[in-house]
Amino acid sequence: MKYADLHVHTFYSDSTFSPEEAMARAQEKGLAAIAICDHDSVEGIGPCENLSGKFGVEVVPGIEMTAEMADAEIHLLGYFLDWKAPWFVKRLKEIQGSRINRIYVIVEKLNQAGIDVKAEDIFRMAGKGTVGRLHVAQAIMKTGKVRGFKEIFDKYIGFQKPCYAPYVKFSPKEAIEAILKAGGVPVIAHPGLMGNDDYIPELVDHGLRGIEVYHSDHKKAARMHYEEMARRYDLLVTGGSDCHGMGKGRVLMGEVRVPYMLVEKLKEEAEIIRKKYVK
Ligand code: AMP
Ligand code: ZN
Ligand code: FE
Ligand code: FE
Repeated sequence: MKYADLHVHTFYSDSTFSPEEAMARAQEKGLAAIAICDHDSVEGIGPCENLSGKFGVEVVPGIEMTAEMADAEIHLLGYFLDWKAPWFVKRLKEIQGSRINRIYVIVEKLNQAGIDVKAEDIFRMAGKGTVGRLHVAQAIMKTGKVRGFKEIFDKYIGFQKPCYAPYVKFSPKEAIEAILKAGGVPVIAHPGLMGNDDYIPELVDHGLRGIEVYHSDHKKAARMHYEEMARRYDLLVTGGSDCHGMGKGRVLMGEVRVPYMLVEKLKEEAEIIRKKYVK
């Protein structure tokens, strides 16, 4: 059996792994394919593709985009998108710019709350990657004032917590449309983290094609629940570890994987989408 891990980050967003490290780890785990799904960045895809032959691991081009609803934030994955499309790359550059600006807002709020972090340190940690709250969390950890990531997100930088700042007013509809226009298959990431599913039917109306049933944060009950939901709404099933290298304390690569056949289904769906939406 061939397997794929369809949710992997690199240091082009908030993983500690370089493309080389991600690909080497995928080979070590015996994976036939991994999908590179960095937050608001496609820069890791090319370097990983260039290493595909060396490590014998296929690379599925992908992205993870953030969209905001009134009371929650959701993540949308886009598989097999045309990641070189100039309009899309330009859009991502704008989003990356607002990610940088919002770090200053978050740092200011944290300083007010008595947490001594500096924007420069956070940018240094992010390196060439799109900067985000995982980098902020790593900087907060270094102050020694908190016990762990849970406390950091629950008390400070989680969605709409006191030190949270948004970076993009992208509705789920707009994110799905952008992914479709780029020829990608829009898939809702880790829905089990949300607490309710009320928003999902609307996403399906907007063009959602898949659901990330298998994820490191989904227990058995969630997996069964979303398997059923995928059947009910005729959505493709995907799954991945959401590996951030050492970014979340432990390397998750390959701990969640799906049969390679699902990659082929995504590829077929992308072909249909490309014909329909890409001008
Ligand atoms: P950002 O790109 O700034 O939205 O940050 C996203 C990163 O923060 C991702 O790696 C998420 O998994 C992580 N993250 C967001 N919320 C939480 C949370 N409540 N607990 C742990 N990690 C989180
Ligand atoms: Zn991340
Ligand atoms: Fe996510
Ligand atoms: Fe992710």
